[in-house]
Amino acid sequence: MLVLGRPIVLRKGHSAFYLSSQAPRLPKAGETIHGHKFFIGFGGKGANQCVQAARLGARTAMVCKVGKDFFGNSYIQNFKDNGICTAFVDQTSDAVTGVASITVNTAGQNAIVIVAGANMLLGEEELQRAQGALGKAKVLVCQLEVSPDTSLQALRIARKNHVKTIFNPAPAIPGLHTDFYKASDIFCCNESEAELLTGECVASVEDAVRVGRELLHRGCASVIITLGPQGCVVLQATHPEPRHVPTSQVTATDTTGAGDSFIGALAFYIAHYPTMPLEEMARRANLIAAVSVQTVGTQMSYPFKNDLPPELF
Ligand code: ADP
Repeated sequence: MLVLGRPIVLRKGHSAFYLSSQAPRLPKAGETIHGHKFFIGFGGKGANQCVQAARLGARTAMVCKVGKDFFGNSYIQNFKDNGICTAFVDQTSDAVTGVASITVNTAGQNAIVIVAGANMLLGEEELQRAQGALGKAKVLVCQLEVSPDTSLQALRIARKNHVKTIFNPAPAIPGLHTDFYKASDIFCCNESEAELLTGECVASVEDAVRVGRELLHRGCASVIITLGPQGCVVLQATHPEPRHVPTSQVTATDTTGAGDSFIGALAFYIAHYPTMPLEEMARRANLIAAVSVQTVGTQMSYPFKNDLPPELF
């Protein structure tokens, strides 16, 4: 535990702004068109997961890098507004804060430009600074939106210190280093990431079980593959049978960031209920992510503890 034995979830990961415009169609090269709606949102997988865990009541800290600019300042304020420790959020003048500029047409298709900016500068120095916290946290969650070397190094430090690790290989990269699997207490990905990592199609629960076995054999202690409205499958090296954990039937309005809500909730349960069976944690994380898909936005749609039934706590 990071501070005074209280549960802490430490996230290492990406924080980015997204600037989203809605227009009748996507512009062609060299063209300027009028859009009709615009909004700014906070995103980035690491940041989303951290916000969800914090909203459930976890003590959280982000290890990330933002620019010394308007977006960086706003992002730090957003972390503070969500009760997240920003002691390991570094601000640099060498790069801009990560941004994603999105255009969505009336058919719902989009064109996205991501500038990772300061996220890619997160490295050795910041890890050194966070090392004390990293060694004492309950849970570390890493993704691939920062340099893979930095993520792997953080996972190794956590494992060495018996900190539970959740690794979310997103966005997935082919040929992922085998040490990522070995350093993962929970390797949690969605269907398309599982497909990219194994080269096998995941179109059903049965496919997910087969692919999950393959990922488990690569050295993780457990694997969770999320399956959208079908919930997830859970596989553990210590448990003989893979399990399908269904979720609640809801009317989805916007599923963006559902996977991050799931992972944030999972991290919360590991930090607060370390002896709870993984399958039960996944069942509860499913229910929380299912709440998030019923409203628009990413962090905007993530529920707080007070919005949820007390049985989940
Ligand atoms: P990602 O956002 O990474 O693509 P998924 O689409 O697999 O991840 O969703 C993550 C989790 O969110 C699922 O395991 C499930 O618990 C929940 N979820 C996603 N879509 C729905 C849906 N339409 N209805 C209910 N729950 C959903």
